[in-house]
Amino acid sequence: MDHTHRSWRLGTRLARAGRAQGAGAAEPLVQPLYQSTVFAFESVAQVDAVYDRQAAGHVYYRMGTPNTAALESAVASAEGGEAAVAAASGMGAITAVVLALAGQGDHVVADRHAYGGTFGLLTQELPRLGLDTALVDADDLTAVEAALRPNTRALLVETLTNPTLRVGDIPRLAALGRARGIPVVVDNTFTTPVLVRPLDLGADVVVHSLAKYLGGHSAGMGGIAVGRAALIEAARSKVVHFGSSLGSFDAWMVGQGLPTLALRVRAHSQNALIVARFLSEQPAVGRVLYPGLPSHPGHALASRLFSGGFGGMVAFSLKGGRPAVECFVNGLDLVAFAPSLADVTTTISYPVATSHRGLSAATLAAMDIDDGMLRLSVGIEDVGDIVADLATALKSAT
Ligand SMILES: *Cc1c(COP(=O)(O)O)cnc(C)c1O
Repeated sequence: MDHTHRSWRLGTRLARAGRAQGAGAAEPLVQPLYQSTVFAFESVAQVDAVYDRQAAGHVYYRMGTPNTAALESAVASAEGGEAAVAAASGMGAITAVVLALAGQGDHVVADRHAYGGTFGLLTQELPRLGLDTALVDADDLTAVEAALRPNTRALLVETLTNPTLRVGDIPRLAALGRARGIPVVVDNTFTTPVLVRPLDLGADVVVHSLAKYLGGHSAGMGGIAVGRAALIEAARSKVVHFGSSLGSFDAWMVGQGLPTLALRVRAHSQNALIVARFLSEQPAVGRVLYPGLPSHPGHALASRLFSGGFGGMVAFSLKGGRPAVECFVNGLDLVAFAPSLADVTTTISYPVATSHRGLSAATLAAMDIDDGMLRLSVGIEDVGDIVADLATALKSAT
């Protein structure tokens, strides 16, 4: 309570009014928010001890805070990894991992169906840093193997791709990487550790966009990478040097979502299966892509790799193309047209107008995306209301 120190003048007491105060004898039940950019040390010896990791503690927010550290240990534990590093966004985490593994003159191989931001990093940014990249169909193990070179330093794949929901054969991709000594980085954003834990399947690093299922409330942003301690510390250096650190508040916000992750993913999965079955019976719908449907090409693989469900993401195409999509979106009431995913409420996105905007017809065709395709992120509402809203919108689209 040093702002009340009697001998200090008013200006001094006011200046110190925001200084940290303890909570008292009892500990707070939930992790408090430490919205402080810097920590005050008692001595040079103490600052030495914290820098040298002889004592627990934090120095300056860009190097980590109690909130980012709490989030890192929770997600590392959920993914079964030794360590984790948080970043300002999913892209911040992916960039840090790639730059920790590869530098000028090196080569990186990735799935051509990777998330749009990852695609942009690989095709627009890394080549400018002297890093060669190759995009392949991760479904085609022979093509992946053929793309690997002596200077390949990382293989980037996803458990479920966006928007066509291809299922990554993580055990075989990891085995391929291991045989060549190439670290395999898996984006587990769409599936979460509740459905699949890539590190258990042989992957080296797992990455997430925290703004999706891990947070689940669309109110906190961030990214995280999980893996062996040495590799994660190398990625942490990139986060610190390139300045993509996660702020305490967003780390804390995501931390509010984690306790309900297992419950939410189960509810998302149950609802999504019902919605996918409903959509596949509708005459206006051309195809439905959901790994939980036996008609999905990755169904058998997903059934083997995932436990407890197939996730909340469903893609489907309206036979009427863009005009039908416009009417459909206008006809929705409950479901929000919002180009993200994993909120507790149902949202829908139109890839050719949002995440895959501006790509050529040939690129879209190679990605199996058509102009009638919509991507639904099925929420945890009462599924009867979701189905009813989709049914109403389908009527306006036909
Ligand atoms: C959203 C997303 C990202 C990127 O995360 P940001 O937090 O937006 O940077 C990466 N991979 C997948 C699969 C995503 O859905």
